Amino acid sequence: MAIVCEKCEREVQDDAKFCSACGYPTARGISFTPEEHRAMTLAFMEHQRKQHGLLEPKPFTPEMAGIRSITPHLALNASGKNALPVSGVDAQYASQATYTSADVVAFSLAHPSRVIRNVGAPLTAADITIQFMTDAQADKVLDIAIGESPDEIICVVQMKGFWKGIMPGGRRNAPDPSLSLAYAYRVLDGKTGNLLVEGARTVAFLPATIS
Ligand SMILES: [Zn+2]
Repeated sequence: MAIVCEKCEREVQDDAKFCSACGYPTARGISFTPEEHRAMTLAFMEHQRKQHGLLEPKPFTPEMAGIRSITPHLALNASGKNALPVSGVDAQYASQATYTSADVVAFSLAHPSRVIRNVGAPLTAADITIQFMTDAQADKVLDIAIGESPDEIICVVQMKGFWKGIMPGGRRNAPDPSLSLAYAYRVLDGKTGNLLVEGARTVAFLPATIS
């Protein structure tokens, strides 16, 4: 007999502890292994990512996907390049952005995510790694579909911490850092500064070798 997920209303196997589509637990009071917690959080975040844009009953704020987060301030010349000195592994892509890595660090520190939270020590600039690349490269690095044109310039942000999904209506247990994911990601449009997607991973994805 199949049961239906309380949150996303998909069918769930009757012996499953959580919905594989959205990560929601199938019953109250079940205990989970750390591996199950990680799988739930990943499923939840993937679900949030797919639903982004549909889950916006709250007022728009800069940290919501699709909303301008960083105000573009670097002018691009006729060749589409900014005037920044060229350096770093992502130089050829960073040179096509309308803002800097420092802007992204400032934004990341000032605007925590609304879908995941860091339950460890507060995030610092040292925890943040940034790399500009194309949409096609970012799709590969993160194994997701960002949905911009393949050649569009994208800013990928990696934040080291202890990340957990913010489950709407979820249980309010004390946060347990051992059940978290180590690397959050954010993807921003390199031209508009809009936040596009966010989520988390168990392993680091930056710096990435791109070609
Ligand atoms: Zn579900």
